[in-house]
Amino acid sequence: MEKTPFVTKEKVEEIASVYPTPFHLYDEKGIRKNVENLKKAFSWNKGYKEYFAVKATPNPFLINILREYGCGCDCSSKTELMLSKAIGAVGDDIMFSSNDTPLDEFKYCNDLNGIINLDDITHIEAVEKACGKLPKKMSCRYNPGGVFKISNDIMDNPGDAKYGMTTQQLFDAFSILKDKGVEEFGIHSFLCSNTVTNEYYPMLAKLLFEVAVELKEKLGVHITFINLSGGIGIPYRPDQEENDIFVIGEGVRKAYEETLVKAGMDDVAIYTELGRYMMGPYGGLVTKAINEKHTHKEYIGVDACAVNLMRPAIYGAYHHITVLGKENQPCDCKYDVTGSLCENCDKFAIDRMLPKIEMGDYLFIHDAGAHGFSMGYNYNGKLKSSEILLKPDGSFKLIRRAETPKDYFATFDCFDFYNDLINE
Ligand SMILES: *Cc1c(COP(=O)(O)O)cnc(C)c1O
Repeated sequence: MEKTPFVTKEKVEEIASVYPTPFHLYDEKGIRKNVENLKKAFSWNKGYKEYFAVKATPNPFLINILREYGCGCDCSSKTELMLSKAIGAVGDDIMFSSNDTPLDEFKYCNDLNGIINLDDITHIEAVEKACGKLPKKMSCRYNPGGVFKISNDIMDNPGDAKYGMTTQQLFDAFSILKDKGVEEFGIHSFLCSNTVTNEYYPMLAKLLFEVAVELKEKLGVHITFINLSGGIGIPYRPDQEENDIFVIGEGVRKAYEETLVKAGMDDVAIYTELGRYMMGPYGGLVTKAINEKHTHKEYIGVDACAVNLMRPAIYGAYHHITVLGKENQPCDCKYDVTGSLCENCDKFAIDRMLPKIEMGDYLFIHDAGAHGFSMGYNYNGKLKSSEILLKPDGSFKLIRRAETPKDYFATFDCFDFYNDLINE
């Protein structure tokens, strides 16, 4: 898939004259078009709902765009629940897909009437302890183990993943929950991350639908939703083919007809918890070339670093880079594009062919809209950048300010030296 930025050099210059680089820029038009298509692709299912994985891009302004299309929030921590509450996403608009969960977070979710998705069978007791009694609607996370294969390609290794219950535990949990008065049941599973194939969701759906039929037949439980969770990926590399959400939706529909409808379970709602797919391509990290270095290799130093986008540093992940204004120039220079951390893994690109870069050029680092800003940290005392929303009419809006030293030192505010520090 050809990778073109959703913003021009001229627009970035305009934005940068108000808000200095680095910043994360988001494309409202792209976000809207994508969620519209997702909804269309699953419109055959009456109860369909997307719970946006808050951890991917925890910005209320962005999540509120998705809320206009009926999306809820998938949370896995107390602060994510707090954020959801703050934007009015409570009750059935919350899916709490947590793991290794502290008791007070179950309680916090239950107080908001959110749907609790149990990661483990022992959490039945934990929820009873935390909340007094079990909610009427509950979900369980399933991990069938083994490896997940699509036409002989191993996609991922659920048997190695810490999440979810085994098949036996899932059956036991549903039976216990039913005895304890739970009335509505859901099944959740997340087996592969960042898949760029139209087959993942349909295959996962088939597997979960078959388990659902068996659970209903053996235990007489009323399963009202099946949550296919996240995992639909995006083409980070130009040589990757993007997913076709309509083919995916149709594949799930076919499995639904063949399995659930045939078993008389035609009232089951399909839920998704997509993160990357919803926001990834619609966010870019904009950064400026500020240093060049000619030693054993050719280096371009930029004003962003792994603190702003750590996927390349921790996963060796590829993020495409466009030198703005030089889209049509030949890529005849080989660079390592680096940040300023005292860590040699702080490189946005290694041996990347790019047009000749001058100091002051703006680089657009693609596909940073999910698991980008949100993974940020403060190593080396680096501060997190701002987030800016590019609106469909070309105007732009600050949706999170950049951190200042005051934010960095805020947790020392109970010490005497704090005021001296922040007044420097
Ligand atoms: C991370 C996560 C998601 C979203 O994953 P993506 O790869 O961004 O789609 C959904 N559900 C749960 C429980 C997760 O942990």
